[in-house]
Amino acid sequence: MKVLISSCLLGNKVRWNKQDKLDCDLLEWANKSGIELVPVCPENELLGTPRDKIRLIQIGDNTCAQYKGVDIMNKLDDKCTTIFQRNPDIVGFIGIHGSPSCGISVGVKNLGRVVKGSMHKLSPVPTVESNALSNRNNREVFLTRLRKTISIKK
Ligand code: SF4
Repeated sequence: MKVLISSCLLGNKVRWNKQDKLDCDLLEWANKSGIELVPVCPENELLGTPRDKIRLIQIGDNTCAQYKGVDIMNKLDDKCTTIFQRNPDIVGFIGIHGSPSCGISVGVKNLGRVVKGSMHKLSPVPTVESNALSNRNNREVFLTRLRKTISIKK
């Protein structure tokens, strides 16, 4: 089964500062579990690497993704939607904590609560963060969700 994963978790140096977040334990578990990981990095596709950091900020009713003083939330959302559309056979997405694009609970300045990053917000399939998958029980729960998605798609 194919699952999208934040590219930096696979060891690709696509973070804003040209670093990675390689998670060997996660990759080993995925391999043993029959998961084919497909790396994606919406920010690298949109902005290149290295790049400035994107920061989420609430302005009025809108949660903005500020990049160099400009709100790029719509562009970021469009990029994530495109990524899902060009991978119709995937059954899940594994993101990473803290990223405005790939995190599940991202802090927003002036909002007082967290929001989902674009990859989770727009995903048509189950999503999780890599840190949750360091827990054995959470791994089983995610696998069950993936299998359920496969059965629905058949
Ligand atoms: S956008 Fe996602 S895949 Fe790209 S560097 Fe940030 S966390 Fe990693």
